[in-house]
Amino acid sequence: MIKNFIDGNWTTSYAKESVDVINPANCEVLAQTPLGTQEDVNSAVSAAKKAFLTWRSTPAIERIQYLFKLKSELEKHAAELSLLITREHGKTLLESKGSVRRAIQMVETATGIPSLMMGENFEDIARGIDSSSIKRPIGVFAGIAPFNFPAMVPFWFWPFAIACGNTYVLKASERVPLTSLKIFEILDNIGLPKGVMNLVHGGKDVVNALCTHKDVKGISFVGSTEVAEHVYTTACAHGKRVQALGGAKNVMVVLPDAMDETTQSKTINSSVDSIVGCAGERCLAGSLLLGVKESTYEKLKIGVVNKVKSINVGSGEDPKTHMGPLISEQARERICRLVSRAVEQGAKILVDGREGVEHLPGYFLKPTVLCDVEKHMEIAQVEVFGPVVLLSKTESLESAISWINEIPYANTTTLFTNSGASARKFVYEVDPSMIGINIGVPAPMSFFSFGGSKTSFYGDVKAHGKECINFFTETYTTIYRWYDESSIWAE
Ligand code: NAD
Repeated sequence: MIKNFIDGNWTTSYAKESVDVINPANCEVLAQTPLGTQEDVNSAVSAAKKAFLTWRSTPAIERIQYLFKLKSELEKHAAELSLLITREHGKTLLESKGSVRRAIQMVETATGIPSLMMGENFEDIARGIDSSSIKRPIGVFAGIAPFNFPAMVPFWFWPFAIACGNTYVLKASERVPLTSLKIFEILDNIGLPKGVMNLVHGGKDVVNALCTHKDVKGISFVGSTEVAEHVYTTACAHGKRVQALGGAKNVMVVLPDAMDETTQSKTINSSVDSIVGCAGERCLAGSLLLGVKESTYEKLKIGVVNKVKSINVGSGEDPKTHMGPLISEQARERICRLVSRAVEQGAKILVDGREGVEHLPGYFLKPTVLCDVEKHMEIAQVEVFGPVVLLSKTESLESAISWINEIPYANTTTLFTNSGASARKFVYEVDPSMIGINIGVPAPMSFFSFGGSKTSFYGDVKAHGKECINFFTETYTTIYRWYDESSIWAE
């Protein structure tokens, strides 16, 4: 059973139950995650609350020295972390390395806190009166993570939170806790003061305990929309700040000019990579590929089928593999059922990824391609979270935008085109708030903010970038008047 990390010590959970951590490429049991309890949360929050007293008054320039050390240690351990991610999640080593790089970039950006957190001041707001505002840390924050990016997603929040002077409790996904365990070993080794970062393992009981604990000031959540909404309403009702990033149903639109001789292969490669990369287990994964006009649609069908047939499926540890397994047998069965129901509802199957995986020892599904997908079909409405390309056609950019905006999710969307005017119209009119133009996975960098809209995001302040500093701080404004007889304003 893996341990919690509380107040600088590796501690045994109060849990009575556990779940297996399974390598999805071969079903090997790697560890057991304890399903922690209210007592685990109480210990972690109390340690974080105590550490806050000294951490908040440690100068920012000293706090970030730990982040510089962390960055250097993460670089040294990047290969080891990537292998861990591949083992517990299944994605390819190349994909894991990319996600570790993104995590490191969060730390790099958070080292800029002395500038990012600086307040404002203004002389003479009235005669002889000045004013200044500062951004002050608030206390204990908590992060709750999904399974699909074991390293990267938690880093969207906590480096910024602690750099601002807050202390932290992380609950990793119970399905992929080993990467976080390694990261906390690194945090332990760099000498971060006790209690600044705490790790509690568990499932929904730990989540609910964090969302209702009186000493937790704010929650950053990433996961499915259903749980995001629950976390948002529960934690808000308990007086906390909340940013809850939910699920997605991402549409990519292809205009005819993105399928001419020079652009076609780029459009196909980028859109297929978006849908099947990380086995489709990305919140920014494309799902529905909409060709504008019949000729675009026909070219897309041919190009996509050829492309997916060249994708090698296997263990993410094998350098020849392009796509690894899904996270679990339940995920595989759910996606296979969605594909079967889509076919019953009239979609045509061009490539059936359910076939040809019997010899593989894990939870594999090959890339699957469905065409003639229509709006009313279940598969066109729900998040698939697997390597299934849904192809459909529409008559105009306007009808494509309407389709996108009718979907309750609004995480990301992409337009493939050579036309600046079309791109501008698209960016201006679509609901999803992370937008790609000829980019299949438009993931904002650490110095921009990350987060969707509508049911893909509950809250006001998004993840990372300058925006997140407001989430992790409270603004205090002071107005000064000093009575001075020699002043020209003396009465
Ligand atoms: P999930 O919602 O099942 O779990 C997320 C977290 O919530 C986990 O830590 C889990 O322990 C906890 N949890 C699960 N059920 C709960 C419940 N009933 N009550 C309280 N807590 C509960 O999500 P997942 O399957 O781990 O991750 C996949 C989902 O995450 C997808 O929907 C994906 O789109 C989404 N996601 C979104 C983003 C984004 O930026 N919007 C990024 C990554 C993943």
